[in-house]
Amino acid sequence: MHPSDIPQTIPNWVGGRELEASGGETFAKRAPANGQEFCRVARSRSADVARAIESAASAFAGWSTQTPVARGDVLMAITRVLHRRRDRAAAIVAAETGMSCRAALAEVGGAIALGEFMAGEGRRFFGRTTTSAVSNKWVMTVREPLGVAGLIIAANTPIANVAWKVFPALLCGNTAVLKAAEDAPATAWFFGQLAHEAGLPPGVLNIVQGLGEEAGAPLVADPRVAVVSFTGSSEVGREIARVTGSRLARCSLELGGKNPLVVCDDADLENAAHWAMLSAFSNAGQRCAAGSRIIVFESVYETFRAMLVERIGRLRVGPGDEDDFGPVINAAQLKAILTAVEGARSDGAVVLTGGRRLDGPLHTGGFYLAPTLIENAPPDAEISTTEIFGPVAGLYRARDFAQALDLANRSPYGLTACIHTRSLHRAIEFVRRVQSGVAVVNAGTFGSEPHMPFGGLKQSGNGSREPGTEALDVYSNLKNVILTFDPNQT
Ligand code: NAD
Repeated sequence: MHPSDIPQTIPNWVGGRELEASGGETFAKRAPANGQEFCRVARSRSADVARAIESAASAFAGWSTQTPVARGDVLMAITRVLHRRRDRAAAIVAAETGMSCRAALAEVGGAIALGEFMAGEGRRFFGRTTTSAVSNKWVMTVREPLGVAGLIIAANTPIANVAWKVFPALLCGNTAVLKAAEDAPATAWFFGQLAHEAGLPPGVLNIVQGLGEEAGAPLVADPRVAVVSFTGSSEVGREIARVTGSRLARCSLELGGKNPLVVCDDADLENAAHWAMLSAFSNAGQRCAAGSRIIVFESVYETFRAMLVERIGRLRVGPGDEDDFGPVINAAQLKAILTAVEGARSDGAVVLTGGRRLDGPLHTGGFYLAPTLIENAPPDAEISTTEIFGPVAGLYRARDFAQALDLANRSPYGLTACIHTRSLHRAIEFVRRVQSGVAVVNAGTFGSEPHMPFGGLKQSGNGSREPGTEALDVYSNLKNVILTFDPNQT
């Protein structure tokens, strides 16, 4: 994708129009594949955010009173436009994240599937009926919109992240202000264009570009924003919980992970190695659901380690469809990952492979890291307990099932977890006792789909689940309706 295919400066979308930041300020977005400036981005501040919230608040009456079926139809129209223009969407995603076009197209497919699922929810906008202790009452729950939704996202899978928030928020009848990720501005802008083309009424979805403190924080703090849904780091999530908590606004947090993948002595080791590689390294490890702690039974540890090292040796890192993964998102992230690996090394961990920037002819100027496998890091070391968000995984030895489970749970996070075993008993016991929001048997640490609830425990979230029908609970008020009647009256 050539930068000339998108605006030189990525603007905001407010009230159905593209707008520069009111101060005229911009910042640079660099292409991760070569480090060069890809575009400039509107650097919005609180005045711009206030304007976007105003626009969303004005559009609320019109949008919230459309039927859920009608809203679903508009979302389906957006989804169809996205489907028609999926190659362009994928090219933008690939250009600004550095992932291959093939991977980007798969991600666009995920966004389309989410749109299709959520649009259908307009025709299944169920409440429930229940009984009353008192005669002559009919009781039911109905869903109502909350108001303006503030949506804040990370850049790692940018179009899926947009879809994940925008579709359920709008289906429920809210209007929205989306704060785009600063590392994926063009994807969010493009989505705004698709929504506009598909006939979404002006002001229903406003998109603000900018940096977290400058454009995200004012959105979180604004009393007109009824619900904040955030996908990003636990550190920022904690701050958002504090601010929304102090004004008693609803808040949904989808945060980080340090997800365990357990390999038992009875596992199909080929299958386990296949999934361990994908879990650790796909999207350059930039997944909240990345499998970054590979816990292996001692009796198969050496064999499995050799299998992983051999497979890592065959991985191709680069921008093309034939490559296994691309660069990390920016220079600061690259530096932070290298610092974390160095820290682990000086704490006594062994870097089996990787741990360095790649600088071959394919990689010039890009933020590429060699796939990195570490062993002998203590389970409580910084590298074992902190999310790295890069192509770095640690190997851990476990004596037996009990120790493997203990190691899996010895984490500040609790997002996803996976076990490889042929034993149904072990599988069930693991699924039952592992502290996570997603538990997988004999595959990867990821694998959630649009109709499934996703979210985590501990530092991985605050208990909400998105997407699935569970996302509707994030974005709607459940009203309990009690109809009292008198059978003697006509
Ligand atoms: P980040 O927390 O630094 O930023 C995420 C978003 O928050 C960005 O749009 C940023 O501008 C904004 N932001 C930053 N400071 C803010 C503030 N004070 N107020 C309001 N908004 C603010 O995260 P990142 O490094 O961009 O993304 C990686 C993180 O996202 C990882 O921890 C990853 O695990 C997590 N993530 C979680 C999920 C999930 O579903 N659980 C999915 C994808 C990514």
